Amino acid sequence: MHTPELLSEEKVFKDPVHRYVHVRETLIWDLINAPEFQRLRRIKQLGTSYLTFHGGEHSRFNHSLGVYEIMRRILETFEGRIALSREEQLLCMCAALLHDVGHGPFSHSFEKVFRFDHEDWTRAIITGETEINRILRRVGEGFPQKVAEVIAKTYENKLIVSLISSQIDADRMDYLLRDAYYTGVNYGNFDIERILRVMRPHEDGIVFKFSGMHAVEDYIMSRYQMYWQVYFHPVTRSAEVVLRKVFQRAKELYQAGYSFAIYPHPLAPFFREQFTLADYLALDEGVVLYFMQQWKAEEDPILKDLASRFLDRNLYKYVEFNPRNFRMIAELKELFAKAGIDPAYYVEVDSTSDLPYDFYRPGEEEERIPIMLRMPSGEMAELSQKSEIVESISGKRRFDYKLYFPLDKVRTLPEPVCRAICECLGVDEGC
Ligand code: ZN
Repeated sequence: MHTPELLSEEKVFKDPVHRYVHVRETLIWDLINAPEFQRLRRIKQLGTSYLTFHGGEHSRFNHSLGVYEIMRRILETFEGRIALSREEQLLCMCAALLHDVGHGPFSHSFEKVFRFDHEDWTRAIITGETEINRILRRVGEGFPQKVAEVIAKTYENKLIVSLISSQIDADRMDYLLRDAYYTGVNYGNFDIERILRVMRPHEDGIVFKFSGMHAVEDYIMSRYQMYWQVYFHPVTRSAEVVLRKVFQRAKELYQAGYSFAIYPHPLAPFFREQFTLADYLALDEGVVLYFMQQWKAEEDPILKDLASRFLDRNLYKYVEFNPRNFRMIAELKELFAKAGIDPAYYVEVDSTSDLPYDFYRPGEEEERIPIMLRMPSGEMAELSQKSEIVESISGKRRFDYKLYFPLDKVRTLPEPVCRAICECLGVDEGC
């Protein structure tokens, strides 16, 4: 049966960030209704951030719709300015909608322990045997491959790639606004209407009219603030450390032949590090949290303790850590081991870093496409040359190292042991 290209009536989703998300294409509507896409409703956008900012419980489904909507609006403003074919327009919208489709439950912690990259799963879902693939193939046999290439940034048309991944793109604009909205913080806000109005296609990329520079500046600053205030929040990172330790312990027990009170069927392929697309799609945060709840009553004292810590939000405390202080970490691990607390699960250094904006540095590891302004004279200028605010943070990578440990456990130790550990950590915690 032939599927009509346009819906008989436009569909709208009410959205707290963009007010409405408009869907006119049958293709987009069908993709949203595919089970692989609906699964994103059961995966939180911000992982463990809800344990710090309780409003941050929004899903990847929400965010994906938002990125699609921004892309749809960009294409609208480009109309008459650049000739994109209908297939190219669909390509932009599909890539925007599906760019995060391969995310799994608690993505970052889960991927680290089970050693895979969600980007590989995004590609597998788009090009493999899925409902999403069947829907995309209606456009053409090679269409799913093109969508995967745009998301992987290897597609030949760099303008299309930059709309979804560059230093200012539909993905970032949506997550900054959305994450700020749901966490309730003020820093993530910027004037997206104005940015979209001054955005122009130019050769193989995008430029911004100089008159809109302050809106772009504001976007860069909100990005900077959101990273340090929300995404890298030390309590969120503590929850991630504990979560990683839960997965690590469960995996280790499984590999050692431990018999779980309830056999973790959906997780077993991951513990074996041999999983299929079907195994991956069967997972969501509900499944993971169900087993976490079971593990609270497990016989293994470490798994039981870690699962309870995560569910009851009894997280690790942290101290600032100098990454060159190898002696301190060795000494600390020894003190923990002597006190009968396994340092493999209860001491962890977590590091993070961010580069808020960078101009083009050819040949560097992470080459970044700079944000270009079109001056009233018609000349082009790179943003940090015109904006003093952006110049002040350009190319400056900021690092942060923290050492995480369970202070409550240390406090239960005999006084001299507790004191020795606190001294080693440089904290005064009243043993
Ligand atoms: Zn995204």
